[in-house]
Amino acid sequence: MIYGKLYINGEFRDAESNKTFDVTDPYSLNIVGKQADASEKDILLALEGGVKSFKEWKKLSSYERGKLLRYLYDLVLENEEELAKMITLEQGKPLSEALGEIRYGASYLAWYAEEGIRVKGDILSPTNVSMRMNVLKEPVGPVGIITPWNFPFAMFVRKMAPALAAGCTVIVKPAEETPLIAFKFFELIHKAGFPAGVCQLLTGDPVKIGQLMMKEAGIRKISFTGSTEIGKLLMSQAADTLKKLSLELGGHAPLIVFKNANLDKAVEGTITSKFRNCGQVCIATNRVFVQKEIYNEFINKLTEKVKVLKEGNGFTGADMGPIINEDGYKKIVSHVDDALNRGATLLSGGKGYRNEDGKGGFMYTPTIISNVNEDMKIMKEETFGPVVPISVFDSEEEVIKLANNSIYGLSAYIFTENISQGIRVSESLEYGMVGVNTGRISSAQAPFGGVKMSGYGREGGYYGIEEYLVTKYIGIGI
Ligand code: NAP
Repeated sequence: MIYGKLYINGEFRDAESNKTFDVTDPYSLNIVGKQADASEKDILLALEGGVKSFKEWKKLSSYERGKLLRYLYDLVLENEEELAKMITLEQGKPLSEALGEIRYGASYLAWYAEEGIRVKGDILSPTNVSMRMNVLKEPVGPVGIITPWNFPFAMFVRKMAPALAAGCTVIVKPAEETPLIAFKFFELIHKAGFPAGVCQLLTGDPVKIGQLMMKEAGIRKISFTGSTEIGKLLMSQAADTLKKLSLELGGHAPLIVFKNANLDKAVEGTITSKFRNCGQVCIATNRVFVQKEIYNEFINKLTEKVKVLKEGNGFTGADMGPIINEDGYKKIVSHVDDALNRGATLLSGGKGYRNEDGKGGFMYTPTIISNVNEDMKIMKEETFGPVVPISVFDSEEEVIKLANNSIYGLSAYIFTENISQGIRVSESLEYGMVGVNTGRISSAQAPFGGVKMSGYGREGGYYGIEEYLVTKYIGIGI
């Protein structure tokens, strides 16, 4: 049993009320840990400490901040096995994927350890000889970070690294399902020697923490990853103190396979973009459109590969772990039932069950359904599960319309060996990210983020640090 604590002003501590909440292994539903449940007093202390420590942290040179980030990166890699096990324990994904997530998250620490040094302003050409016009980039201020359970490590590191490099302090609130990996990471932050108050960890009631973060005028930005519903709520709450926001929200990715695609690549890309983390990924493919000339061949190849994927315990070599909780499971079941009731065809899988004779975690088999249409729930809402709905199309023009017919705009994928078509279609898709002939697009140097109901703001690369900077103009008469 692991007992996770809060981290406030350089110290690990229990909640002032001594309250904790349970953390369960989603595979067995056994309780594997307890995490401190922050009281209002704890939250206010952490916010106040984050605001106070900003004054000194921003004054450090970017080299000094970069050195700490780089050391933290080394510590994460030294401890990657232990950290990965923690992810699999409380989130359920296969251990190999958990290890991939640790390395992916850590890569943002390495990237921003260096990128902070490259922040620069401008000296403008003045309107007259007795003026000087300087533009500075400054850290936006203390930042509240709120993240989900699906990538329980990478989601907050992807925000913390650029924020810290820019000179912001951070108050992190991870998901209630997966707080222990945050606690373990903060042990490394402590070891790395970040000054007290620069990185704070708060766990517990999201409504209380969210509201107090929003109320505190000293917190200048909230960076949120999660559902569109909560993103909208936070946006309305941010109005009172006019906080800057980054909102990385839900997605509903289309994946288009054109008749001249390399079908092996397309099948591989579909599997990567759909079944990773049991489909519980914001950039997971949620609609597959296949051109009619290759429809049967694609379906046969995909079904053959999907049939051998196995769901199971993330610690014992399964391809996919459990669904995070009952709500997530029910949503998947309802999407598949709705599609089948409206005339879709089940090609593979389609079975949901509970482990351990109906008392354990929620599992869903890798599933393919065809003959889907635009009226079905699965074609409109994020499924967040291992289900591939496939439909057929005739022309490029038609499929662009179909692909753009979504309130979301996070990621899209296309497969074609025709370079002009690849460029034409990727430029016509209303999405923040497009993968051409690949189902794997995210990396530390590239801008990650969406448009429409998928939110705004970018994480990664030069674009990511901009989110934590404000522009100041200094006009000087000489
Ligand atoms: P969620 O319910 O919106 O929760 C996300 C975070 O917000 C959690 O820490 C949650 O805390 C917190 N939260 C919930 N209610 C809140 C409130 N009233 N005020 C402040 N914070 C609140 O989302 P989820 O179900 O955990 O995650 C899945 C969603 O995240 C999907 O829609 C997925 O597409 C999206 N996502 C997007 C990206 C991206 O980069 N665009 C990446 C990953 C996931 P508790 O856990 O304590 O409830």
